[in-house]
Amino acid sequence: MHGYWLRRYGIRGHYIPMDVSPADLASVLEHLPRMGFVGVNITIPHKEAVLGIADIVTDRAALIGAANTLIFRKDGRIHADNTDGSGFISNLRQGAPRWNPTDGPAAVLGAGGAARAVIAALIEVGVPEIRLANRTRPRAEAIRSDFGAKVVVSEWVQAANMLDGAALVVNTTSLGMVGKPDFRVPLDALRPGTVVTDLVYTPLMTQFLIEAESMGCTIVDGLGMLLHQAAPGFERWFGQRPEVDVATRNAVLGL
Ligand code: NAP
Repeated sequence: MHGYWLRRYGIRGHYIPMDVSPADLASVLEHLPRMGFVGVNITIPHKEAVLGIADIVTDRAALIGAANTLIFRKDGRIHADNTDGSGFISNLRQGAPRWNPTDGPAAVLGAGGAARAVIAALIEVGVPEIRLANRTRPRAEAIRSDFGAKVVVSEWVQAANMLDGAALVVNTTSLGMVGKPDFRVPLDALRPGTVVTDLVYTPLMTQFLIEAESMGCTIVDGLGMLLHQAAPGFERWFGQRPEVDVATRNAVLGL
């Protein structure tokens, strides 16, 4: 994705993967700016730990408890942000333009790191109620205590009931992903027109989305979130806001 954007905008830059051990993280982040790096994306298992290393942490990254984008500022300070939530909302707005945050409750399945970013963003855009269920209930309870009374926690075994009357349903679990267990929450309570989205993007069309589409729901796949969460970092690093369009999507899909 970044390589495609760099070529498209004629920018002489590189985006490379690095496998860094937790013990080396602070030292690597200290040295990268001196080597000419302008920033990095952070992924598992470092998303929480970087908050303790960065000099500036945005409010949303602090609330979510994790960062995915670091900017190495010219003054030497490291700026940490979390763009997963805004990527999630931008993807929804692009894929389901008629969805309005005030349409009704959102049902969120899963309470991991991605769920925290999604829930923060849903609250920020004005969703009135967030129904939340997670296999490990205390993780969902922790989100309720961090994010407030708009979050209503249900038992995982009763997750199907949360879908009744929801305007938006989001799978933030890894269920349905290649190599992970199947997504088995019954979807009978879904209504035609409900917006249904999955954070899983391998496969692109998950069983959850296939079934929801067959019930007349508006579906939005998870690849767009990946593309949209990357755009703000790219802009901060390279001074060019990249367009998230069909050409970008096709480049990532190798089409
Ligand atoms: P995480 O922190 O490890 O959370 C995983 C979530 O899945 C937890 O809610 C976990 O429940 C649940 N889960 C895992 N196995 C389960 C099972 N057998 N039964 C029921 N629930 C199960 O991971 P994450 O960072 O939040 O990521 C979650 C998913 O979102 C991944 O598939 C990831 O690839 C995807 N993601 C996509 C994007 C994107 O841009 N599209 C961005 C971020 C993440 P417990 O708490 O009970 O373990």
